[in-house]
Amino acid sequence: MLPRVELFPHVIEMNYQARQRLGCCVYLVFHENDWLLIDIGYEDTTAEIIEMIRQMDFPLSNCRYLVATHADVDHVQGLKVAKELLPSAETVGHADAARALADGDRILTYAEISAQGISMDFPPIKLDRTIGEGDVLKLGDLEIEVWHTPGHTSGQLAFRFGELLFSGDNIYRDGCVGNIDAHHGSDIPDFIKSLSRIRDSDVTWLLPSHGPVFRKDRDMMQKTIDRLTEYQHMADFGTCAVDWPLLTEWDEELARGFDPEKG
Ligand SMILES: [Zn+2]
Repeated sequence: MLPRVELFPHVIEMNYQARQRLGCCVYLVFHENDWLLIDIGYEDTTAEIIEMIRQMDFPLSNCRYLVATHADVDHVQGLKVAKELLPSAETVGHADAARALADGDRILTYAEISAQGISMDFPPIKLDRTIGEGDVLKLGDLEIEVWHTPGHTSGQLAFRFGELLFSGDNIYRDGCVGNIDAHHGSDIPDFIKSLSRIRDSDVTWLLPSHGPVFRKDRDMMQKTIDRLTEYQHMADFGTCAVDWPLLTEWDEELARGFDPEKG
């Protein structure tokens, strides 16, 4: 048997468990024999991850849920294979993620970024059930609360478990956020609301979808929120920005006429 490496009671993360980076964070939450997975990652690591779980003595038939935090290829490419290996598990995710997964939407999920030569398989899968804000995933006595935290993508979910928040692509330990991209359905005002909610919540630990687990730090989160607040008014973020004040300045200058003395 493979000794279980618990980050917190009832919580294992498969990269920490393997002591090497496999891909995105894959969280296993368990209660007695019942367990669930939050994200599964790429298809080429799926069988390896499930084999590790078997060696850790979790009965494969007791996997209750396969959860998608959102529909990005690096989080869910292996979902179809995982469902085949774990047929007792219910596949769940937000309705927007369910749509992208069912359609096999290659743009929204980042399977296809032709300008960068990225083209990956994206096996479509129909989720068994959609979940959203206020839903609860039960695992024996344990309750995991679903938060809808749009911003990175419209279907981004986070999951509260006591003082822990499985925070998805909302924020990482260095204060970066999941990327902001119009073709991905990102929304900066929504992102700011989701980050503010996390900042103001009483959770102590953030368990993100990429990188190390970290203690929630109000000041660090505020810095990120302030940065995104600026992004709203910067051309750098294209159609994700809400406005671009330079255009108003230009309107005034056009009306006034160009003056080299002031330029
Ligand atoms: Zn991600």
